[in-house]
Amino acid sequence: MPQASKKTVQSEIDTYQTDKVDQVSLAASQVASSTHDFPYRAPAHFLSQVDLQNPEDPLLKQVVPSKLEDVTTLGFNIDPVGDLHKNPIPGFIHKYQGRALLIASPKCDIHCRYCFRRHFPYQEHSNRRYWDKAITHIENDRSLNEIILSGGDPMSLTEKSALPLIHKIEQIAHIDTLRIHSRVPVVSPNSAWNQAFLEWAEQTRLQIVLVVHCNHANELSEETEQLFQQYRQHNIHLLNQSVLLKGVNDSVAALKQLSKALFKQAVMPYYLHQLDKVQGAAHFEVDDKTAQQLHLELRKNLPGYLVPKLVREIAGEPFKSPIT
Ligand SMILES: *Cc1c(COP(=O)(O)O)cnc(C)c1O
Ligand code: SF4
Repeated sequence: MPQASKKTVQSEIDTYQTDKVDQVSLAASQVASSTHDFPYRAPAHFLSQVDLQNPEDPLLKQVVPSKLEDVTTLGFNIDPVGDLHKNPIPGFIHKYQGRALLIASPKCDIHCRYCFRRHFPYQEHSNRRYWDKAITHIENDRSLNEIILSGGDPMSLTEKSALPLIHKIEQIAHIDTLRIHSRVPVVSPNSAWNQAFLEWAEQTRLQIVLVVHCNHANELSEETEQLFQQYRQHNIHLLNQSVLLKGVNDSVAALKQLSKALFKQAVMPYYLHQLDKVQGAAHFEVDDKTAQQLHLELRKNLPGYLVPKLVREIAGEPFKSPIT
């Protein structure tokens, strides 16, 4: 299971507000929840954005374990999106036409309590010895044109270990787009891929899309703004996906503010996901009717380009299904 990198955590704690880190860690450790398979974890930068005066802080709720995670809920299971049954090669998920996903790293810098991957047997599926198999598969499948690096979080790998994989993908002629799905740029911008990645980005023939994962405007900071600016200067397209979460962003005001704050930092809203029904996350669920009403209000309140698509992942469907 994901382990904290001691070096990163320590240097971040030095840089950021140690008192907040301590207080949140204490709160997290006091929860007598059976979270051993998905322990508390949050980067210092993310915690520096928390408002400790607010007991309902939308960032804290995403990371502090709750006893509600132990509740077994009918209809919520361990592999809600069917990923475990779609693996010709461990760590390689080809569900949709033209694009396939590679689990580049088993780790995340943050453990989002609602995560659908919380029960995923990462270690079995992200072993680097499968990378070569995945590359061979991609070389042989000309129907693919886009490779998505995902996880866990691909940016939990160093640039040095990720770039050889990226180079191999770049060498495959029928691949024209590299997409990276990462929450690191938002929750820990100082450890996001930077120099070496940007140098590569400057001269690659590939289109690069970075899908960040931001659920609330409070997650954005000056640091994220600077990072996104650098990415934009290197022609990296920036999109955001969020998950609709009860008590975190399930209001018109929060969602509107999120879209506007993202746009201000040059990130376009892409998806607003309905929660994957993973065991332990039921207390975050927003029902479809409420979700649709919120989405309708967003349409009324925002220019079309700032309204994310409201979708749900349904196992076996050929694309993310719109909620209608
Ligand atoms: C979400 C997802 C994609 C990407 O879908 P888009 O609609 O193109 O964003 C690709 N592969 C897998 C396995 C996914 O879960
Ligand atoms: S960063 Fe993404 S994959 Fe990792 S725990 Fe959070 S939601 Fe899950």
